[in-house]
Amino acid sequence: MPSLIDLHCHSTVSDGVLPPTDLVNYAADCGILALALTDHDDLGGLDEAARAAKSRDVRFIPGVEISVTWRKRTLHIVGLRIDPTYPPLLEGLHRIRAGRHTRAEGMAAGLSKIGIHGSLEGAYQYSKESIISRTHFARFLVEKGYAKDTRSVFKKYLVKGKPGYFEHEWTSLDNAVRWITGSGGVAVIAHPGRYDLGRINTSLLMNEFRNLGGTSIEVVTGSHSVPQYQQFAKIAKQFSFSASTGSDYHGPGQSYIEMGRMPSLPLDCVPVWKNWPEVRDIVVETV
Ligand SMILES: [Zn+2]
Ligand SMILES: [Zn+2]
Repeated sequence: MPSLIDLHCHSTVSDGVLPPTDLVNYAADCGILALALTDHDDLGGLDEAARAAKSRDVRFIPGVEISVTWRKRTLHIVGLRIDPTYPPLLEGLHRIRAGRHTRAEGMAAGLSKIGIHGSLEGAYQYSKESIISRTHFARFLVEKGYAKDTRSVFKKYLVKGKPGYFEHEWTSLDNAVRWITGSGGVAVIAHPGRYDLGRINTSLLMNEFRNLGGTSIEVVTGSHSVPQYQQFAKIAKQFSFSASTGSDYHGPGQSYIEMGRMPSLPLDCVPVWKNWPEVRDIVVETV
């Protein structure tokens, strides 16, 4: 039985390809009953998405995905049920977005060195009004024929050690958790299986996150393999975290998993929405 709750996805406000209204309509068409929009470092799509959700009878949860540097690694922290008017959150995200431009310039300079010119302008054409991200560079590089799809372009050009990689310091884990929880939201470690942390660093991160006030991790996500569902369900239990679930949908053909196709959370998980009146009455069959 697929999960009808999706607490992680992206619109054109960050690096998704569907505008907020289209994204919500698509989710509704896929049978999603509760949806969180979690654009990278930007809350600009929340009002529009909330309106669209209301008209389609989808329960809407305002969210965000914050870029964090933790021990020289980039992590993503999702905030759910945030207050989009909370000044420290707004100011913090504003600073992160300014940093994204600096990073984009560094990435373009690196690509120029190997003869790929015009990538900054090219990436900005894809990002239009939204924040600039590596995905926009990836789309530009695919369009120019440097790789066959965005996934292989990352491996070839945009990850650590490759010419288009630029070391960038995002905000701290402490800041991200404080902005989210300070606004009344729940801080969630996004796709923890994607960071290749190993056992010791995973424990360190989970402990530190918990001490800062984090209370949840993603267990079922488009970025996890099936064995990782069980692995992170176990870790959630071990650290008394609730479990979240989200497709990390970026648009048709852009994602690991389609909306409405994710399996439900493993039975022994405490769902992050357990005490959310707007979601908890949705009956979800478990795997
Ligand atoms: Zn992410
Ligand atoms: Zn995401």
